[in-house]
Amino acid sequence: MKKDFDINQLVRENLKTLKPYSSARDEFKDAGNTSYVFLDANENPFENGVNRYPDPQQRNLKAKLADLKGMSTSNLLLGNGSDEVLDLLFRAFCEPNRDNIITMPPTYGMYGVLAGINAVENRKVPLDANFQPNVDEILKQTDPKTRLIFLCSPNNPTGNSFSADSISSLLDAFDGLVIIDEAYIDFSDKQSWIGRLAEYPNLVVTQTLSKAYGMAGIRLGLCFASEAIIGILNKIKPPYNVNQLTQTRAFERITKGALITSEIKNILSERRLLREALSSISFVKTVFNSDANFVLVRVDNADLRYDQLIEKGIVVRNRSKQQLCENTLRFTVGTPEENQKLIATLKDLEP
Ligand code: PMP
Repeated sequence: MKKDFDINQLVRENLKTLKPYSSARDEFKDAGNTSYVFLDANENPFENGVNRYPDPQQRNLKAKLADLKGMSTSNLLLGNGSDEVLDLLFRAFCEPNRDNIITMPPTYGMYGVLAGINAVENRKVPLDANFQPNVDEILKQTDPKTRLIFLCSPNNPTGNSFSADSISSLLDAFDGLVIIDEAYIDFSDKQSWIGRLAEYPNLVVTQTLSKAYGMAGIRLGLCFASEAIIGILNKIKPPYNVNQLTQTRAFERITKGALITSEIKNILSERRLLREALSSISFVKTVFNSDANFVLVRVDNADLRYDQLIEKGIVVRNRSKQQLCENTLRFTVGTPEENQKLIATLKDLEP
């Protein structure tokens, strides 16, 4: 249990007095009731399914998601993909040209890009040789202007999860926010950190419907945090950041729990087969463990193999330019047919 944490010390000064935009749908909340005549939001009155603004607080969808995750809606904020949620965290808690954040390469590239956009220094503390956070070095790099530490677990592109001990050490010792990006958590047998929010008022967990839930196209990201943190993010989010089509499709999809579970099972069994098959390819040097829906491999010459695969019509991700990832390719787990095609193509490329 972390004590003496005051989120108000981290909020950007200008936001403390900011009066958020109040939309028509914020001011009149009973918009679901069709017996009213709505002449408040300058919408086109002719019905076509999307002529009305969506619920700015996504109440139906949020209730469904909170229920699914065993959480309260007051601990949940939804965004236009988790990328939007990550950006909101910068805008809420990092003063441009003054504050800094910590990232751990090799990791998801958007943390660094968002730092650049928001004029925030990105202090990079590479993962160790086992792709685990270097806790002592991270804490050494923090100072009173360090606002956010980004932990991606399972990590993209390495695929592994970070040890619970490293994560709790950072949560205990650091007085800024620890963001755990759990985009790939549904492919892992490790527990999500959303269950630990009551212990750690400085914990923020992000998740997404883009991966296991199969909805990258609709853009829906989730952010779990204390009520106080969610309140601040709510104040600065664009009023209608989750559109009506997204709210409707996400709601429909998450009612299909059995289908999602069976797709995840399929992807996990394909991941196992893919890792085995990759190990038998002569120019594959290492197949890294994965808690995600992709597999990182070290090959003899990643640039060459990447080009050869493109020539055969298969697009993978060359991660070789990232720290600790020399000569690596990242393969997303596809359908059984796609994975078989990948393996057959790699076999053809063998000397
Ligand atoms: N976090 C990680 C670790 C990711 O790999 C990705 C997408 N590749 C995202 C976040 C972004 O997810 P979303 O589609 O929800 O914006």
